[in-house]
Amino acid sequence: MGRKQKLRQERKIKNNKNSTPPAVVTTPSEATVEAASEGELSIFAILVEIDSVFPKSDEYVQATDDSQIIYGNEDNKLDNNEQYALFKQGATVHGCVHSMFLMGEGHCNHMYKYLGHPWFLEGAIRGSFVSLIGEFYLDHAEPNRNANTLYGYWGKIATNFDTRLGPKIAPNVLKHQIGRKCAICLKTDTKTFTLKQCIGCSFYCYCSESCQTTHWNEHNHRGECKQLRILHKYHKPYAKAIRDAAIRGDIHPALEKLQYKLGLTRPLEDYQEIITYCTHDGKISDPKDYVVARDDGTVWVGSIPSTACVSRK
Ligand SMILES: [Zn+2]
Ligand SMILES: [Zn+2]
Repeated sequence: MGRKQKLRQERKIKNNKNSTPPAVVTTPSEATVEAASEGELSIFAILVEIDSVFPKSDEYVQATDDSQIIYGNEDNKLDNNEQYALFKQGATVHGCVHSMFLMGEGHCNHMYKYLGHPWFLEGAIRGSFVSLIGEFYLDHAEPNRNANTLYGYWGKIATNFDTRLGPKIAPNVLKHQIGRKCAICLKTDTKTFTLKQCIGCSFYCYCSESCQTTHWNEHNHRGECKQLRILHKYHKPYAKAIRDAAIRGDIHPALEKLQYKLGLTRPLEDYQEIITYCTHDGKISDPKDYVVARDDGTVWVGSIPSTACVSRK
């Protein structure tokens, strides 16, 4: 094992023990080599290639400078928090998608994975690492807290940007898996009975109002369906223009509106208790419940201007 590799491993162990904000220290290419299987490697390689068109903030460059990312090295000029602060500044002040990716990725080594969500989403709405947000839902959302339609949405957006980025589960396969059966009791169509589709997304089917209510309330389809509608209205028509502007280092007006509609700009007070103790309304709860969306379709945890991580110090 090389010295650098060993240090990186030690750093990982330290990060896992650490209950404070995670350090984000690997670049996408390093993450690729270390963590991904060969199949994933190629997708990551494509993502890195595609995202190389986005500008890198000075803060990102400084934080990932090779001489500075080696944890524990005497030459290391930055500790984890300083590095994290640089990424945060790169992401929030300069809209640097590379910083956003590493902020999201940093949280994935950490128990509070949902804190990575707003950063992956910030990147995705700018057209960066788009297919990762869907994978994030598959990997980190509570299975009963649905995110299948959001997975499908981001899969299509990713494919529009680059056909090599098709999602692991193609939208038509996903739809077939969900299929013509009630999302709750799995009842199917018969000659005399036809299931009803969800009016919001036309994706899920229900046999009865009672199953629909269960799906909407207990499985959080209400939040998912509403977030999907926000994306269809405020993201999809502008997705390319927002991305083109981000590549030029500009902010498209539609991006700001979308951030607001998705709740990414919500004040820190709205989610302080979630990021600190993972509680909501005073009850301790499962972090996975905070991955997808609130009842109104907005995100649980915001990104700009208040950020989760620094406040968790
Ligand atoms: Zn049913
Ligand atoms: Zn729906």
